[in-house]
Amino acid sequence: METKTHQQLHIFFLPFMGQGHTLPLIDIAKLFASRGEKSTIITTPANAPLFTKAIQTSRSSGLEIEFLLIKFPSTEVGLPEGIESRNWAETGEMAEKFFKALTLLKQEVERLLDQHHPQCLVASSLFHWSTDLAAKFGIPRLIFQGPGFFSLCAAMSVTLYQPHMKVASDSESFLLPNLPHEIKMTRNELPYFLTHQNSEGELFKLLGALKETEERSYGIIINSFYELEPDYVDHYRKVFGRKSWHIGPVSLCNKAEKDISARGREGSVDDVHECLQWLNSKKPRSVVYVCFGSLNSFSDCQLLEIALGLEASQQQFIWTVKKEKNDKEVWLPEGLEQRMEGKGLIIRGWAPQLLILQHEAVGAFLTHCGWNSILEGVTAGVPMITWPVFADQFYNEKLVTQILGIGVAVGSQKSEDGGVKSEASVKREAIEKAVTDIMEGEEAEEIRSKAIALGEIARSAVEDGGSSFLDLTSLIEELRSFGS
Ligand code: UDP
Repeated sequence: METKTHQQLHIFFLPFMGQGHTLPLIDIAKLFASRGEKSTIITTPANAPLFTKAIQTSRSSGLEIEFLLIKFPSTEVGLPEGIESRNWAETGEMAEKFFKALTLLKQEVERLLDQHHPQCLVASSLFHWSTDLAAKFGIPRLIFQGPGFFSLCAAMSVTLYQPHMKVASDSESFLLPNLPHEIKMTRNELPYFLTHQNSEGELFKLLGALKETEERSYGIIINSFYELEPDYVDHYRKVFGRKSWHIGPVSLCNKAEKDISARGREGSVDDVHECLQWLNSKKPRSVVYVCFGSLNSFSDCQLLEIALGLEASQQQFIWTVKKEKNDKEVWLPEGLEQRMEGKGLIIRGWAPQLLILQHEAVGAFLTHCGWNSILEGVTAGVPMITWPVFADQFYNEKLVTQILGIGVAVGSQKSEDGGVKSEASVKREAIEKAVTDIMEGEEAEEIRSKAIALGEIARSAVEDGGSSFLDLTSLIEELRSFGS
């Protein structure tokens, strides 16, 4: 912890309730506290257990970090009590209601700002109303953007130049205009909401409000580091003129083993020890870790293809499946777990991802390309097999495979719309090939050494004097002088 030579800043954090936003924003709150500032995170009762655990170590080492609760308006929008996270809103209808509820949180946040008078409000991009709310209290609102710079630049290129409107079919590729590299995409790969806008829907209204308030916010905090995407940090700042700070990889603020293994979980960590024991028995870089993030739920037919593809690759694996253990696991080929005993471990539910990725036994990461997962894979120096599913994930895939050269694509070609699928979009043969290629293909060594080198740079970015360390320092200084 730094000694306090200045007046301490008090910063409010308002994370979007969904693991992909909550986890990095808790880490960011911890980072500010580790610099001697005071961090207060706002959340809701059902999300509280996650927060209590996540900030325990920081608090017991004397850092000033706390959380305050606000009521989540479940009943007001017609959601069952307790559905206070995007991860628990399982259907499209529930997700719409959940997004509606977010706008109703404004009053409660206003009450807390009025009581505590913080000097800054850092809110996830989805809380568009927080820009005006912060202005009412004369403080800056910083946006926490989930994705990295490359993805933001690519999305901006699509929005500004509409290249997808100039091709004849969904599968015809087009160039993303005015980017530092030649990046091609298809309409199929773009986020579904962009290509299927319904001007009456809640989501459409929300996106309009987000764009408008983003331009008026003080600036943007991004979980990335300069050396990962230098052309795009510069492009974002110069071409789009946005104030932005890269302060990641933020997951590296979790140093205690307890924090690394418990990240994101509310319950017990017994199964974590089992997983660790399993990994300890393996040779270095001999295991493929497979996980598709916190939100994704593949159909049974897709899970079956993954199981058969992994088995056919003859590689060792840990595979996280977001399913409860039950008697009728139609997605699991008969006898697979017995055949793969000692060779393949299936985790049902929540995996200790940071712990697994950092383990020396892990040799590759089959990922859905959520930005946190990408950054965690980069930080661990692990080559990736990219399998984007929706949203910004297809942009992230291009960064990993075409610009950084630290991964191979499995061949996912279409952004999902959330509907139930009766046919798998990626077949077992493609999975088997990508897994074999990354572990022992012709280019495996070259990809691995690039990934290892980048991992070292990632870890030094947050050390004293590193690019992210310095950007956080300059952000803190700027906030301290705000209004003076
Ligand atoms: N995560 C985890 N265990 C799981 C699934 C996800 O620890 O079983 C964590 C992962 O480490 C990452 C976050 O949840 O920090 C997921 O964020 P990401 O942006 O990768 O994907 P999303 O869940 O938002 O699609």
